[in-house]
Amino acid sequence: MAKKKKPDLDKLRSQLEHELIRERRAAVEQLAGLLTDEQLRIAAFKLLEETAATNFYGIIQKAAREAMDAEQRKSMPAVAPAETMFYIGVTCSNYHTTYFDRRALCRDKTLYRRNAQVVDGRTLEEFEVVCEVCKEKMKTPPIECPEETR
Ligand SMILES: [Zn+2]
Repeated sequence: MAKKKKPDLDKLRSQLEHELIRERRAAVEQLAGLLTDEQLRIAAFKLLEETAATNFYGIIQKAAREAMDAEQRKSMPAVAPAETMFYIGVTCSNYHTTYFDRRALCRDKTLYRRNAQVVDGRTLEEFEVVCEVCKEKMKTPPIECPEETR
């Protein structure tokens, strides 16, 4: 029985440098499709990340970033649209994104280690959180918590 042929990432890598923008775009689309593939997702994320940072065309950089964002948003909890602003996504080194409610982070005094810094008179706190999928420890970006929750 023939095994299903896996897409060739080296080929996609060179297609990302193709002289035709539509070829580059097609490569981004193929990579986006690989983000759900257990074996290839990390390599696909890395290549998209590199593309978003260095591709010659801004439009291709943007497409790569959007492909990653769309995948990461899938792990956003189902909350009312007005609530989404309170959520921050934190991505671990295996490219899993876990969303945290910043209000819950700020209120909690036991579960999360927090690190405060004063920057330009504002107190910003970083929280040590854990990836929901692989349990890797990671840090949130600095959050400004309401004073009563510090
Ligand atoms: Zn993880």
